[in-house]
Amino acid sequence: MNAPSRESLKGVDLLSEINRLKKERNAVILAHYYQKPEIQDLADFVGDSLELSKRAAETDADVIAFCGVKFMAETAKILSPQKTVILPDLAAGCSLEDACPPGKFKAFRDAHPDHIALTYINCSAEVKALSDIIVTSSSAETILAQIPLDQKIIFGPDRHLGGYLSRKFNRDMLLWPGVCIVHEAFSETELLKLKAQYPGVPVAAHPECPPHIIDHADYVGSTSGILQFARTLTGDTLIVATEPHIIHQMEKSEPSKKFIGAPGADGNCACNICPYMALNTMEKLYLALRDLQPQITLDEEIRLAAKRSLDRMLEMASGTIGKGDLGRA
Ligand code: SF4
Repeated sequence: MNAPSRESLKGVDLLSEINRLKKERNAVILAHYYQKPEIQDLADFVGDSLELSKRAAETDADVIAFCGVKFMAETAKILSPQKTVILPDLAAGCSLEDACPPGKFKAFRDAHPDHIALTYINCSAEVKALSDIIVTSSSAETILAQIPLDQKIIFGPDRHLGGYLSRKFNRDMLLWPGVCIVHEAFSETELLKLKAQYPGVPVAAHPECPPHIIDHADYVGSTSGILQFARTLTGDTLIVATEPHIIHQMEKSEPSKKFIGAPGADGNCACNICPYMALNTMEKLYLALRDLQPQITLDEEIRLAAKRSLDRMLEMASGTIGKGDLGRA
């Protein structure tokens, strides 16, 4: 079926149609914290990428509509192979995924046979399948702390998260040179101006930020961690150095507090809005639920290998794996 033009959707009540199709398809709608507010507000679950995939796997839904980016929808498919997983726009990628093509990653691994690959979840299913242990920004510290000090490590694809861990644990790792274009765009000069304007106001930053931003942060953590920090904040104002759409959840949870997005290069650009996440719209979500396209499909061998490295993370994060089991997969 040809998708109707945007024009022909005029007059369609997108919210009620999405809700009708959700019931008809027995679908669960997931929204990442970096999605537009209208998508966050209609979702069944809002959260970070792994948390969303785990929540969806626990439901009896036949369809997962993942409003996020492709590697996140792939993670949902890895955990729920029997469910149909749709992504409103298949072009919703990620600069970290783009920076780490599986062929180059495999060649790098092969060149360092004595290293294990500790890989950030922001990568393709193929790269997950080539890795030993996946980490999230929430679980990375717990997992790194369990790896013996004499074990050599490749960390990819985010060199800023890897560098942050390396500095915090005083541990050398071979860092893959990828960056998140959104967190890379925060400006230290503009952040210092903002801090001068709001003296004493804390800064919460995601570890995908470069070190010159992390150095000014009072709290460094994952999206869920930053949200929790905002909830427990005793003051009434917070500067937030991550993708600004997360502020929607902060304002819903803490309406009496003020949240200020950290600035980009000219102090007023939209460069900290993730352009990939922004590709998902209400129109595309409606069409995806109606046509069950675009769908995420994975080669079963890759899915199983990727699941093995994800399972290792889940076991290590919950303390159910022995240190003797931590070798190269
Ligand atoms: S915010 Fe950065 S890491 Fe997240 S999807 Fe966008 S480009 Fe990728």
